[in-house]
Amino acid sequence: MTFDLGDSDLSRRVLLIEHDAADRRFLRNWLTSDGCEVFEALDMISGLGACTTYRPDLILLELRLPGMSGFEVIKRIKEVPRSRSIPVIFLSAAASTAEKVRGLDSGSVDFISKPFDPTELQARVRAALRTKYLQDLLERLAHIDGLTGLANRHALEEQARRIWDTCKRTNDPFSALFIDLDHFKQINDRYGHAAGDEVLRQSARMLRRTARSADFVARYGGEELVVLAPRCGLEGAIDLAERFRESFERTIVPCHESMITVTASLGVACATDFSADSPCDLLRRADRSVYAAKNAGRNQVWAWDWTIDAPVRPAASPPKSDKTPACASI
Ligand code: GH3
Ligand code: MG
Ligand code: MG
Repeated sequence: MTFDLGDSDLSRRVLLIEHDAADRRFLRNWLTSDGCEVFEALDMISGLGACTTYRPDLILLELRLPGMSGFEVIKRIKEVPRSRSIPVIFLSAAASTAEKVRGLDSGSVDFISKPFDPTELQARVRAALRTKYLQDLLERLAHIDGLTGLANRHALEEQARRIWDTCKRTNDPFSALFIDLDHFKQINDRYGHAAGDEVLRQSARMLRRTARSADFVARYGGEELVVLAPRCGLEGAIDLAERFRESFERTIVPCHESMITVTASLGVACATDFSADSPCDLLRRADRSVYAAKNAGRNQVWAWDWTIDAPVRPAASPPKSDKTPACASI
């Protein structure tokens, strides 16, 4: 009986770190005949390099490499964040029990003794690939908001740090847009929670459609959404926010006999001084700008002005009317 996890969807990129040419050929033939894509490395240096360039789903690692123990190789693989989660299977002839124990304790998922039965090798490789697939799936789900399918707050904070580091290195501006739906509680109260959920889903869809491909859209929590805009200066970010604001105004969510309309208040902050601040400061400034937009009447964009250390209403974003959730008959 085979365990069917939708194996056709399974990514099967296998990195083989093996110095012996005959063993490599033998392993490659059996792996490719089972649907794997195989990349070969003869030593530790090329093997470690391939972990980043080839991004394998699984590594088959010979324990006895010339001048280098496989234990040293796996130690290096597990030290590097980008390769840490790649499962490793050790291969070795005449391995002692102590070596097998050490191999498994050093982070490998399996230990296969040579000579081996090729069908058993294939089954063990498939098992390791399935576990990796599920691990990746869990990792992805842990970063996604279940209602909207957007990145969640945890993913947002990780991404904000990554963009911050890149923009700091390349000396590019980095903007954050904080978005808070106006009077959202009234939508729930008037139309029910399910309708409120649908408004959130449609808002997320609209943001994804309207954002640029480099932007990162996330649900911060509740009815608060965030867009991270790398390499985007303050003026560009204000334009982007204004575009979002107008799209919210045009969004109509059908609900039974009614059409729900929604508006949003947006706060923008742009980082240019990467040494003095942090990604948290940037998000905090964008959030405080939203409060200013709310206090000024909602359905508008405010932006953080670092020269006065306070939010201001940009000239490009004149005050709009505060439309409470509307209910129009069809
Ligand atoms: P304001 O214009 O000041 O932002 O008013 P508001 O009503 O949008 O803000 P408030 O913070 O008073 O209420 C937010 C509401 O969002 C309350 C909460 O029940 C609702 N909410 C939060 N998460 C969800 C969700 O996942 N689904 C639905 N339907 N409602 C949610
Ligand atoms: Mg809110
Ligand atoms: Mg709100």
